[in-house]
Amino acid sequence: METFTKAQIQIVNDAVAMSEEIVCNFYKMSVNQWLRHRYDVKTLMDLDQTEIIQGPFAQIIRYKGRRKDTMLGSATYDFYKICIQDHAIIAALKSSAELTLFPFAVYIITHELIHIVRFARFLTGFDASQEEKLKEEARVHEKTYEILYPLGVPGMERAFEFYKNWLNPLENILI
Ligand SMILES: [Zn+2]
Repeated sequence: METFTKAQIQIVNDAVAMSEEIVCNFYKMSVNQWLRHRYDVKTLMDLDQTEIIQGPFAQIIRYKGRRKDTMLGSATYDFYKICIQDHAIIAALKSSAELTLFPFAVYIITHELIHIVRFARFLTGFDASQEEKLKEEARVHEKTYEILYPLGVPGMERAFEFYKNWLNPLENILI
């Protein structure tokens, strides 16, 4: 499977930094608040075989973390790993000449961070039904658009274009 080049990894790192700032601003959290220690973003070369999927550009896997500074067995917390699927993103970039990595990665990572904020705030459950997951997916795409649109990141229109089916009514995405 094709992995990002060093230059592409750098672009993705920049996209992660920008997305964190955007999402923290929107939800009025400081970057050093809980979010910092509750998730990680990894690209293909750092993924286990079980974290790699075909199709989606990223997936979130939830792990249980345990605090080291306590003896209490109940002191576990959710830890989310955003698993970036380089191969799928590279294939999308190849299929669409006008799509570029930076805005596309900002879209994908902002989207995943919104999911995590919403899980953490119990606005939706990680183990929701399939129907609820689809509705949540549409909501998160809407939110991603709402947050990113005013920022005018160069090339972002192409990323919006790529995802526009998700912004249409739910019937369209169930086809
Ligand atoms: Zn999603």
